[in-house]
Amino acid sequence: QTAIPEEVTLFDKIVAKKIPANIIYEDDLALAFRDINPVTPTHFLVIPKDRKGLSQLSKATPEHAQLLGHLLITAAKVAAQEGLDNGFRTVINDGKDAGQTVYHLHIHVIGGKQLSWPPG
Ligand code: 5GP
Repeated sequence: QTAIPEEVTLFDKIVAKKIPANIIYEDDLALAFRDINPVTPTHFLVIPKDRKGLSQLSKATPEHAQLLGHLLITAAKVAAQEGLDNGFRTVINDGKDAGQTVYHLHIHVIGGKQLSWPPG
């Protein structure tokens, strides 16, 4: 059976360096880059280079467990690299109600100020 090719996302183009981005961390599996429209003084995204069907978190299966764990650990590591010693927040928007706009799983890391809770 032939696999159905996945759609090329904006973030695939950033991974392929076809679209410029301010990349702050990269390894074999993950890429972190500054959000183009930051909502806090520090705002970056952590994405899988190969999303393996993870257009959004609700598509996750047990096969994605290792990749998802790696992305979360990377988010914390890059937060430390960014000097977010007083704390930070991770957010994964899933689908329409959450306002997801790019269907390539990504973890938002926001911080650099006191954040309010709960969100709207
Ligand atoms: P979502 O709303 O899907 O959770 O988040 C998508 C995020 O990607 C938004 O915060 C948006 O500002 C960011 N974004 C969209 N296009 C680009 C781009 O071309 N470059 C970068 N660095 N960020 C982008």
